[in-house]
Amino acid sequence: MIKSINPATLELIGEVEETPVDKLEEIYKKAREAQKKWAKISISERAQKIIKVNEVISTQFDEISLLISNEVGKPPAEAFVSEVYGVADSTFYYYNNVADILGGEKEVSLGFYESLDKHSIIMRKPIGVVCVIGPYNYPFTIPFQQIVQSLLAGNSVVFKPSSETVLVGQKIQEIFEKIDIPKDLVQTVFGSGSKLGNPLIDFADKVIFTGSTATGKRIMQRGANTLTEVSLELGGKSAMVVFPDANIERAILAARWGVFTNAGQVCASVKRLYLHEEIYDYFLERLVILTKELKQDIPTKPNVDVGAMINKEQLDWVHKAVQEGIDEGAKILIGGKRNPNLKGYFYEPTIIEANDNKMKIVQEEIFGPVLVVLKFDDTENVINMVNDNQYGLTSSVWTNNIDFGKKVAEEIDTGSVMVNEVVYTFALAATPWGGTKNSGIGRSHGKLGFYDVTRPLHINIDKYKEPDLWWMPYDEDYDEIIENFKNIASSLVVKNPK
Ligand code: NDP
Repeated sequence: MIKSINPATLELIGEVEETPVDKLEEIYKKAREAQKKWAKISISERAQKIIKVNEVISTQFDEISLLISNEVGKPPAEAFVSEVYGVADSTFYYYNNVADILGGEKEVSLGFYESLDKHSIIMRKPIGVVCVIGPYNYPFTIPFQQIVQSLLAGNSVVFKPSSETVLVGQKIQEIFEKIDIPKDLVQTVFGSGSKLGNPLIDFADKVIFTGSTATGKRIMQRGANTLTEVSLELGGKSAMVVFPDANIERAILAARWGVFTNAGQVCASVKRLYLHEEIYDYFLERLVILTKELKQDIPTKPNVDVGAMINKEQLDWVHKAVQEGIDEGAKILIGGKRNPNLKGYFYEPTIIEANDNKMKIVQEEIFGPVLVVLKFDDTENVINMVNDNQYGLTSSVWTNNIDFGKKVAEEIDTGSVMVNEVVYTFALAATPWGGTKNSGIGRSHGKLGFYDVTRPLHINIDKYKEPDLWWMPYDEDYDEIIENFKNIASSLVVKNPK
């Protein structure tokens, strides 16, 4: 059995049966059969069936939020807004837009070849069985959206939640069992990545993985054996850059939420804060004061802002990274230790001043409530500092000059850049989500998310009655054909490109 522990109270809250490795082949076989039936159903019918999950969820808003809170350690209100609402909102968007994005056939112009009565249409087909491997930090909204996009596109899904969040994984399975879709279209398996990971990848037609960069690389290596496509949503070290003309009070509150939401266990958390020297002292002083006001406690108690971390290993790892930062010369302004008043895995909201962009504490992902702050005086310089990092998931630029903000955004090498916002764009179902560099490969959400779980099929239709010009024999007549081709090719020279 896999036990689920509440990381805030350390109480056992449930357990699920581990999936035996030798069952995976059978699970995939069933998934494949279910997928064949499902793919024959029209897109709009699929959408009509899948949207029913919103009805199921709407009867359990509080129950699901509480379950997430108990298993991950975040406040139930935060679980509702960032996870449960996020699922309802994105499912509604996908329901409304899947037919436009994936439906129908698109005829493409073939230029010269059309004069020979040749035509091409392109359509998108499901890939088959998609394996969704989820992380612990947003155990509901991240895999749920990936499952919904995969299903709407005509795939079946084998889903493995993190071993830390098996009860939320079980809840996802339960929700899909309550709607009218073929049996085995969604199957959830439980067990550690080290046991189930390889066969899960080997049998899959596509893997959508969300988790650490180290595991993502392992998955990609494994996928290479079978040339299985992988999409990787990996780690981050998001930067927030504040220019002096920004709305400073809003930026301070954004920084506080951006780093401490979900106890900092967010791939897109504000992890690096770059403050212009003109506002540095004021901003930091206010941020520290406001951080002191945050209430950290068992998240189900009233008015708690910051909950617990997922487990002792993560907490120890974060503390070790902070200690190493101090050894490097970084200075703790607040926090920097486990909360001594609580027995669960609570790490105090921590703000650290660094003095060099090359420091390990600035460069590496610290998956916890830890913010590193640096000073800058020049735009080019700060862009270089932001880009000088192995990760490229999100970033934000704060300025009241939107044109300037957009210009800076274009220079930053991350999958998303927000101007005057932080973190929240994962919630936007319409826009692509994913990173550059060590933050991953592929995109979920929106049109590109649907493209990620489908393959283009090109059908070429020929209505020409005569043999094609380029077919054999290559005799004297062929010389004439070549001359004609040369004339056509010459007509394709563009003298004054527009
Ligand atoms: P991990 O990489 O530890 O685990 C993620 C998932 O992968 C878990 O289900 C885990 O299973 C599984 N897994 C572990 N080893 C293997 C393997 N060899 N083969 C297949 N699956 C495996 O990440 P965390 O759960 O700790 O999540 C935190 C990380 O995720 C952070 O780095 C964060 O930045 C990143 N993340 C990225 C997001 C993005 O959108 N870019 C969003 C959210 C998080 P088990 O734990 O049961 O062994």
